[in-house]
Amino acid sequence: MGKLTKKEAQALDFNTKVIHIGGHPDSETGAIMPPIYQTSTFVQKSPGEHSGYEYTRSHNPTRTRLEECLASLENAQHALVTASGLSAAMLVMHALPENSVILCGDDVYGGTYRLFTTVFHERHQIHFVDTTDLKSLERKVSELKPALIWLETPTNPMLKVTDIAAVAKMAKKAKSMTLVDNTFMSPYFQRPIDLGADMVLHSMTKYLNGHSDVVGGALMLNNKKFYDKLWTLQNSIGPSQSPFDSWLVLRGLKTLAIRMQAHEKNAIKLAKWLEAHPKVDKVIYPGLKSHPQHKIAKKQMSGFGGMITFFLKGGLKESKKFLSNVTLFSLAESLGGVESLIEHPAIMTHASVPKQTREELGIHDNLIRLSVGIENYDDLVADLEKAFKKIR
Ligand SMILES: *Cc1c(COP(=O)(O)O)cnc(C)c1O
Repeated sequence: MGKLTKKEAQALDFNTKVIHIGGHPDSETGAIMPPIYQTSTFVQKSPGEHSGYEYTRSHNPTRTRLEECLASLENAQHALVTASGLSAAMLVMHALPENSVILCGDDVYGGTYRLFTTVFHERHQIHFVDTTDLKSLERKVSELKPALIWLETPTNPMLKVTDIAAVAKMAKKAKSMTLVDNTFMSPYFQRPIDLGADMVLHSMTKYLNGHSDVVGGALMLNNKKFYDKLWTLQNSIGPSQSPFDSWLVLRGLKTLAIRMQAHEKNAIKLAKWLEAHPKVDKVIYPGLKSHPQHKIAKKQMSGFGGMITFFLKGGLKESKKFLSNVTLFSLAESLGGVESLIEHPAIMTHASVPKQTREELGIHDNLIRLSVGIENYDDLVADLEKAFKKIR
C-alpha cells in the first residue's frame, strides 16, 4: 500500500483527511504510524547528493507529513510549520517589505498585539481597526492601501466575527493580502482560503494539537513566491518545530473532527445555560442568536466552536471568588485542549494590553473566558454551578 495520489487526496472528506493525509505507512518498515525522525542531520551519498533532507532546521520528514496534512485541511497548496503561533506571525512580519502598512483587528490575541506593538512597530506601520465595521474598514483600505489585512475571527476574548469574504474582496481591490488567524475555529469549522483569504495562521498549540502538550504554529497559503520567502526566513532565523512536536500534532490531528464536534456540542448547551443563569449578566458565543454577528458566523462557519465569553454580575471580587471555586475547569491560559479551561483575560491573557485599551474593547473585570472541553456536559455544569453558589 502506497501513498495517495494528489488527486485522490483532494477528493477525500475532511474526516478522512485528518487521519490519512501525511499518515501513509512508512515505506521502509510498513509501520502504520509515521516515524519520528528525531535527527538533526541527514547523511549524504556524495557531496550535495541527498534524499531531499539535509538538516532539520530546514526540513524534516515528520514535519513534512504534518505540513501535507495541514495544507490539505485548509485547502491550500503550501503549509509551513513553525515552533509557535507567534513565530509564524513573526515570519509574516519579516516577509513583508520594510515600512509596510498593516491593518490589524483591534481585538487580536494578546501575544499578537504585544508582538506588533513592541517589536514590529519599528519595522512597519501597524494600525489597529475594528474589522467588523466593514464600512469604516473599506474606507481605510482604499485610503491606506495596506500590504496586509490581519484578521482574527472570532476574536479573543470578545468573539467578534468578521465577514472574511467581504474583507478579502475589498483587499483584492486594493491589492492587499488578507491573513486570517483561524486558531479558534480550526479548519473543521472555518476555511478562510475557500472564502478568498490569501493566508491562514494557526497556533497549533490550541485545537489542531488539542491535547495541551505542544507549542506550535503554522501558515497555509497558495502563493508559492510568498511561501518560499517564508520558508527562507524560517531557515535563516530558525523557528522550526522539533520532529517530536510535529509528530504529536500529527497524532492529535487524527481526532480533530470528532473533538471539534464534541467541543461544540458542549459549548452550545453551556452558552444557553449561562445565558439563562441569574448570576450572569451577558454571554458571548457566536452560536447564540443574541450574538451581534450571529448571521455572519452562520454564513462562514460550519459550527460555532468551543469558546465562550461571559460577564458575571459583579466585579473583580466576584470574578476571583468564582474562579477560585471551580475544579473541573482548570484556571489556566491557553485553550483548545480536550480538558476545560477557565481564565480571566484582564489579569491573565490580556494583561499586556493597556488597561484603557482593554476597557475600550470591553475586557472588563467581570469578564470570564471558557475553553469548553469534551468532558461530560452535566459534570461541567455542576462544576460551574458549585462556583456560582459561592458568590453572594
Ligand atoms: C495562542 C494564540 C496565538 C499564539 O500562538 P502560540 O502558539 O502561543 O505562540 C495566536 N493567535 C491566537 C488566536 C491564539 O490563541
